[in-house]
Amino acid sequence: MISEKSDSCTENRKEGNIKIILDEQRCRGCNSCMLACSFHHHGTFSKEASSIQISWDYVSGKIIWRINPNCDLCEKESECLCIKYCPYEALSVEPTGSSLFCVDSK
Ligand code: SF4
Ligand code: SF4
Repeated sequence: MISEKSDSCTENRKEGNIKIILDEQRCRGCNSCMLACSFHHHGTFSKEASSIQISWDYVSGKIIWRINPNCDLCEKESECLCIKYCPYEALSVEPTGSSLFCVDSK
């Protein structure tokens, strides 16, 4: 988990300096992140409307996940809602080619 919190969090997300990452060992497939994401986008709870998609591969038993291009990193929110509402702390952010950091709410 990234520990430095700064006022530039929103700015960094706006500029695309971070990306969402999933710890597949922690994820339980509870769907909370998807519902939070759909609420961010549409004000409703719908897994289908979420930018982050998580499901089980029942053959391998592994988590399958992706983040669709319409993820705006929760621009205009104070933090990324999928991270905030993951009860298992499976989601976090990492910088992408930049020294700038964004943090979750922990
Ligand atoms: S950062 Fe926001 S828009 Fe992107 S997947 Fe998470 S909740 Fe959805
Ligand atoms: S909220 Fe966390 S544990 Fe639940 S599906 Fe999303 S990433 Fe996995």
